[in-house]
Amino acid sequence: MTSLPERPRVLALANQKGGVGKTTTAINLGTALAAIGEEVLIVDLDPQGNASTGLGIDRRSRSISTYDVLVGEARIDDALVETAVPRLTVAPSTLDNLGVELEIAAESDRAFRLRNAIAEQARMAARDETGRRKRFTYVLIDCPPSLNLLTVNAMTAAHSILVPLQCEFFALEGLSQLLQTVEQVRKTLNPALTIHGIVLTMYDSRNNLSGQVVQDVRAHMGEKVYDTIIPRNVRVSEAPSYGKPALLYDLKCTGSQAYLKLASEIIQRERRLRDEAA
Ligand code: ADP
Ligand code: MG
Repeated sequence: MTSLPERPRVLALANQKGGVGKTTTAINLGTALAAIGEEVLIVDLDPQGNASTGLGIDRRSRSISTYDVLVGEARIDDALVETAVPRLTVAPSTLDNLGVELEIAAESDRAFRLRNAIAEQARMAARDETGRRKRFTYVLIDCPPSLNLLTVNAMTAAHSILVPLQCEFFALEGLSQLLQTVEQVRKTLNPALTIHGIVLTMYDSRNNLSGQVVQDVRAHMGEKVYDTIIPRNVRVSEAPSYGKPALLYDLKCTGSQAYLKLASEIIQRERRLRDEAA
């Protein structure tokens, strides 16, 4: 097994529940990291392609997608599409990804397709003296709402998993299944995989339940939960229909500000991890 290069740092946004804020977090955390100077790639693995659409990438600009990369017909560099945000690039997804599992099921490297593609891109960029190939410092993988081969590819490609958890009654339900899958991937495909953290999303300060959920999740998951909580904010939910991240649509709104805070918390956590490893 080839070891992952130190750069880019690869974080997979995973939770098999739909509607918990994976895509919203990929888009806005990606934008926030780019805004503070990181070179960011969002890899869209969800056949729904919401991260691509939410970043204003129309269908015509997706002639090469992550599907082509996974089936081995294209390189990541061929799929890249620039966004309106400087230093933020997307590898888009299309409905073709619905079929990818069947197509590569018989291949021995089926769980390593994304990992190998990201590593190859990083190697080629490091060697490229023209500077045309992007040298990403962060790759955020937006996973589909399931624990299928696409998500397994993301977990195999990642240094670490970031779990968005919605502040609702059943927030913790399903988390143990997700953690079991991470454990399984760690035992077999990616021994270095860690849980980066849990981000609580769609927090509603007018609702007592939200506060209760925060307490419960912190009691169960302790330090793994980021200090930053993403509030429920209508500007955040409106932004994708304009093909923009919330940070471009309304930088001052509480949602955008929370994602900026999350980005700096993540960078601090990364520094701490690196210092511990050194
Ligand atoms: P997932 O990718 O996990 O399925 P999404 O990021 O698509 O979840 O979010 C599900 C829905 O919730 C979307 O309609 C999105 O706009 C909305 N949403 C996500 N985060 C927020 C937020 N902080 N405030 C308001 N709406 C949000
Ligand atoms: Mg999504």
